[in-house]
Amino acid sequence: MVVPPKHLTATITATQSFTDEIKWFRLGLSEPIDFFPGQYVDLRFPGEQRYHAFSIASSPAVKGEIELVVKKEHEFTTKLFESAEGTQLESLAPLGRFMQELKGDIVMIAGGVGVTPFLSLMRHARDAKLTDRQFWLFYSCRTQEHIVLQDELRALHDENDHCNVVFTLTREQPPGWDHELGHFNKDLLLKHLEHFDNKLFCTCGPDKMVNAMMDMLKEAGVPEDKILHESWG
Ligand SMILES: Cc1cc2nc3c(=O)[nH]c(=O)nc-3n(C[C@H](O)[C@H](O)[C@H](O)COP(=O)(O)OP(=O)(O)OC[C@H]3O[C@@H](n4cnc5c(N)ncnc54)[C@H](O)[C@@H]3O)c2cc1C
Repeated sequence: MVVPPKHLTATITATQSFTDEIKWFRLGLSEPIDFFPGQYVDLRFPGEQRYHAFSIASSPAVKGEIELVVKKEHEFTTKLFESAEGTQLESLAPLGRFMQELKGDIVMIAGGVGVTPFLSLMRHARDAKLTDRQFWLFYSCRTQEHIVLQDELRALHDENDHCNVVFTLTREQPPGWDHELGHFNKDLLLKHLEHFDNKLFCTCGPDKMVNAMMDMLKEAGVPEDKILHESWG
C-alpha cells in the first residue's frame, strides 16, 4: 500500500564514514513513517528550494528513524557530509514505487551505493521472517573498504537460510578474500542461482552496470516484467 508522503523534520543522530566518499547516516524523524523497501526520502537544508532523493537503507520495522548511505557528489552531499549530529533537515517521506510489488524469490544486483534499497529489503526479509522464499543480494564494490555494513550482511547470510549475500570486488583482491572477484555476469550469477526461472530481478547502481545487467538478463530469457531497475545517473 502506498501512503501519502509527510513533511517531516529529520535530525542527524549518528554518522559513520566508510570511505572519504561514502557515509552512513541515522536520522531521527519528527513523526514515525510506514514505508516499504525501495522507497526514498527527499531532503533539503532549511531555506533551500530543491530536494535531493536518498533511498531508505533501514528496515520498515523501524519507523521513527531511518538510515541512509550517501555518496559524496557535489554541493548538497558535501554539505551533508560536513553536518554534525543534531543538524536538522526538511524531509518529504516516504516516496517512490521501486520494488512495490514483490512476489516469489527475489534477486537483487547492486553496484556501490546502489545497495541502499536492498539493505532495506534484506533487513525486512530478516525482521519479518519471510522464510517462505529466497532472497539473494549480489553486491559489487571497487574494494572491500567500499562495502557498507559488511559485518551485518555476513551475519544476515550466516544466520538466515532464506537470505543469501554474494560480494564481488572489481578493483582489488585482498588476502583471504572469500567471495567473488570481477564484474557480475551471467556465469557468476548462475553459479549461485543455478537458474533464472521464476525469480524477480531488481537492480540498482550506476547507469552502466544497471544497463549491462538488464541486457544480460533479457538475453538470458528473463521476461521484462521480471526485471525492476533504478539508476541515479
Ligand atoms: C530515487 C533516488 C534515490 C537515491 N538514493 C540515493 C542513495 O541512497 N544514496 C546516494 O548517495 N544517492 C542517492 N541518489 C542520488 C542522489 O540524489 C544524488 O547523488 C544527490 O542528490 C546529488 O547531490 P549533489 O551533492 O550532487 O547536489 P548538488 O550540488 O545540488 O548537484 C546537483 C547536480 O548538479 C550537478 N553539479 C553540481 N555541482 C557540480 C560540479 N561542481 N561539477 C559538475 N556537476 C555539478 C551534478 O549533475 C549534480 O548531480 C538517489 C537518487 C534518486 C533519484
